[in-house]
Amino acid sequence: MTGIASRPVDVDVHPHVRGGPATLARYMPKALGRLVASEVVAEGDDPFRDPHHVIVDHLDRLALAAAVLIPLQPLNAFSDPLVAFETGRAVNEYLLDQWIPADGRFHLAAVVAPHDPAEAAKDIRRYQKHAAVAAIQMPLANILMGSSYYHPIYRAAVDCGLPIIVHPTGTEGAYHGAPVLAGGVAASYLERRIGLTQLAEANATSLIVSGVFERFRELKVVFAEFGFAWIIPLLWRMDMDWTRLRRGTPWVRRAPREYFTDHIRLTLEPGADVPPTQLPKVMEMSHADRTLMFGSDYPHSARLDSESMLDNVPPAFRERVAYATAASTFRGLRVQEPLATAPALGR
Ligand SMILES: [Zn+2]
Repeated sequence: MTGIASRPVDVDVHPHVRGGPATLARYMPKALGRLVASEVVAEGDDPFRDPHHVIVDHLDRLALAAAVLIPLQPLNAFSDPLVAFETGRAVNEYLLDQWIPADGRFHLAAVVAPHDPAEAAKDIRRYQKHAAVAAIQMPLANILMGSSYYHPIYRAAVDCGLPIIVHPTGTEGAYHGAPVLAGGVAASYLERRIGLTQLAEANATSLIVSGVFERFRELKVVFAEFGFAWIIPLLWRMDMDWTRLRRGTPWVRRAPREYFTDHIRLTLEPGADVPPTQLPKVMEMSHADRTLMFGSDYPHSARLDSESMLDNVPPAFRERVAYATAASTFRGLRVQEPLATAPALGR
């Protein structure tokens, strides 16, 4: 990768749990842990469950300055709040115990269950004591993000200087408790995957029009792995309708585009949804210099994808997309060694 002065930051890396739920059971209250451990079958192992493999295979290979770990346990599909909260706490504790000490570049997006926002807020205030916690990951309930339901979570996140990350957990549009997609229940994974941008569009609109960013002026929200090209028609439409109809929502004082670029961040993955030849124009129209960050979705993206993703970013946007926007969005990213002194990429 050329054309930037800084090492990249990858804000979308997924840590797998070696041993699966049986391992997490050791981080749970004893009674619940015994229950979870007795009900699971042994999982196979793969190299991505080993932080030392991920360090060599991804962090070193791409000469990353930092990586934000986003655990993907589908807490929003659990019907039992106790199990959802304890599973979230167990995976956070496991990662703080097993992954974070393995490399100073690892940071954690600590996950909280959406079932009880007051309880989630308590967890956020507890996690903020760990210097490696750079963000809070919040799987969505089937409630739009502009709702006051989430206010205790936003209050705690702002007080702790932590952005909120929303990332699909694989349950959206398919499981009870997770958000629905527009129009009804999709029949296949392909159909759901194509429709995922609806969630980011609906929730970005809800956050802006409900006045969340007027109430929580320091709040940053990251929609990770929802792509980014969709914001172009959304911003056109929001600005157009706000101009004509804003009398009904006087708390939306500024044009929606301004709230979006000040408060909402997106990631490159899935990077192939914009053809490389169209990227310069699309990035300009989507305010990529302010809104977009590098997020590879490792290890779920192909290795080649992660490298070419950044190489395809037009030079004028690379420094912002690869490093600067992430550094100003996440808490305490422990960076930075100039790229000039970093080892060359292994290719
Ligand atoms: Zn991802």
